[in-house]
Amino acid sequence: KSVVQAGADADGEMDELAEDLDMKVALQRELQDERKNLPVYQLKDDLLKAIEEYQVLIIVGETGSGKTTQIPQYLHEAGYTAKGKKIACTQPRRVAAMSVAARVAQEMGVKLGHEVGYSIRFEDCTSEKTVIKYMTDGMLLREFLGEPDLASYSVVIVDEAHERTLSTDILFGLVKDIVRFRPDVKLLISSATLNAEKFSDFFDEAPIFKIPGRRYKVDILYTKAPEANYIKAAVGTILQLHLTEPAGDILLFLTGQEEIETVEETLKEAMRGLGSKMPELVICPIYANLPTELQAKIFEPAPEGARKVVLATNIAETSLTIDGIKYVIDPGFCKIKSYNPRTGMESLLRAPISKASADQRAGRSGRTGPGKCYRLFTEFNFRNDLDDDTVPEIQRSNLANVVLRLKALGINDLVNFDFMDPPASESLLKALEELFALGALNRRGELTKTGRRMAEFPLDPMLSKAIVASEKYKCSEEVITIAAMLSAGNAVFYRPKDKQVHADTAKQAFHVGDVGDHVALLNLYNAWKETGYSPQWCRENFVQSRTMKRARDVRDQLEALLERVEIEPCSGAGDLIAIRKAFTAGYFRNAARRQKDGSYRAVKSHQMVFVHPSSGMAQVLPPWVVYHELVETTKEYMRQVTELKPEWLVEIAPHYYQHKDIDQHETKKMMAKGKGRAAM
Ligand code: ADP
Ligand code: MG
Repeated sequence: KSVVQAGADADGEMDELAEDLDMKVALQRELQDERKNLPVYQLKDDLLKAIEEYQVLIIVGETGSGKTTQIPQYLHEAGYTAKGKKIACTQPRRVAAMSVAARVAQEMGVKLGHEVGYSIRFEDCTSEKTVIKYMTDGMLLREFLGEPDLASYSVVIVDEAHERTLSTDILFGLVKDIVRFRPDVKLLISSATLNAEKFSDFFDEAPIFKIPGRRYKVDILYTKAPEANYIKAAVGTILQLHLTEPAGDILLFLTGQEEIETVEETLKEAMRGLGSKMPELVICPIYANLPTELQAKIFEPAPEGARKVVLATNIAETSLTIDGIKYVIDPGFCKIKSYNPRTGMESLLRAPISKASADQRAGRSGRTGPGKCYRLFTEFNFRNDLDDDTVPEIQRSNLANVVLRLKALGINDLVNFDFMDPPASESLLKALEELFALGALNRRGELTKTGRRMAEFPLDPMLSKAIVASEKYKCSEEVITIAAMLSAGNAVFYRPKDKQVHADTAKQAFHVGDVGDHVALLNLYNAWKETGYSPQWCRENFVQSRTMKRARDVRDQLEALLERVEIEPCSGAGDLIAIRKAFTAGYFRNAARRQKDGSYRAVKSHQMVFVHPSSGMAQVLPPWVVYHELVETTKEYMRQVTELKPEWLVEIAPHYYQHKDIDQHETKKMMAKGKGRAAM
């Protein structure tokens, strides 16, 4: 009897397995049908022919036409991955690289990380099997260090070229050079905008391959008067739209995680207030630091009768295409990096988008049928205040990182580097000065041993320098922990509305001795480590366990890099001065001094800055501080602030600071004369 029983069980299992298989087959078929429906599919053969004929090809096509997901697959099917060669496809954004790789793996029916993988900073999801590799443009840039001719790739696709990120712009110059001495490599530059001529001109008149897009009519609606508060206006528009407009999903563009979370909260509250008679609203946020498991949610269709509202950063402008969007709400802002080469200050600020961006955003609503775009600004605004195009990042960035990398690649003559749009020579000079001040370059502008070590770390030069300096101060263990925490993201703590006091108390507990946020991050990490990396402990302390896990991964990698540059792991055993000095060795340019009114002034540039309210130092306000970065919201805020002794500046960076800089009297005199500029 028992035998029969077992047999029956096995049968049941077999049925289940068969059913499962059927579903998989059906899903695959559906995916393959979807692939054939994409505009690029019609042109597959022509495209492959063009690629065969020309070494460099510019590909232009409307967002969502299938460039990113399909072209690498076509190339793979056509044999470009034979003989162990790979296809690289770069993306300006990490989330896009991950999400697209996941999609393509699914379409090919393979496990992510096998034939199809991705590589982003601090996360390599590829294997020996990988032939289609999605990666951030920054990661491909790093690969040049180990493989200057990119010999393992048969095709390099620089995707989303219109975004003109700093890394993409540098890649342009480097890959242009490679195609000259590697006749076997193919280079595709793919872009969503129409001014492809510029790319063609740069790449020696490379032919342009156009993929005609489908774009339905989009109604553009403007507000009658400027909106005082676009968050409020956006929430209002969503609710009204949800109540009055026919089915179709909504996409709202915001500038960052904080805004997205605010809107999410407000919307949820408003929906609760409206009661159960309202049709359901499924809220899907998407931004750079969104945990991987939640990223896929934006692509899932909303259940019957419900409406999906996607709250996105710029990432949904061209990098990711979400099907089913019928309404776009565009407040007209994004967060951009801006750099003042005179002061050497870089900050992230909210700025109006360009006309080109506004049009891209509007276009997201007309992919599958006619759409509507609600612009939360006036038509007059649009016509008269918005720039035509966004200025390429290279012209508004601190170039120290790029210059260090190029120097590490042996490219010394930066003035004659083949830039599509050259950066201001002032910015280049400033970068050279900064690297010189950090000890990465010598007087002749050549890479020093310190510089070579710094270039190994995928971090900002200042942070890399702090790590390299930790050798001297014998605290490399602590410094890489802090560096990992700084790199893991800003969302370390959370602060639930109903438990704010508890959360703040928990946070303050890591500020033993009140010397600064850097040491607090170290205390936090070590306390977590002591608990055996407990998620429960994280919850009790209002700490994001995800961020902590990421910090741990980053730390592991930094540890491996320490070994590579031959720095002994070494613990300073609680010597907080050593740790702070190591940071000062990297960040001495970010030194600021307190003023009578509680504001600060940067020691060299005399710019007015403030301690960010989230800093543990916001109540302490030490007379001298060194900070990690500046963020501009209503004011210029210093984020991650640590106390400093002014004499350290002269001790650690004597080539940068003189005694007069830290002397009260002299500083005042200098300011009165208006000589606020760095002397270097
Ligand atoms: P393009 O690069 O031309 O903008 P894509 O290749 O990114 O176009 O997109 C083609 C299609 O693939 C779109 O319909 C998009 O919705 C879909 N797609 C892309 N990534 C994903 C994903 N992670 N999940 C589901 N669908 C996706
Ligand atoms: Mg794309």
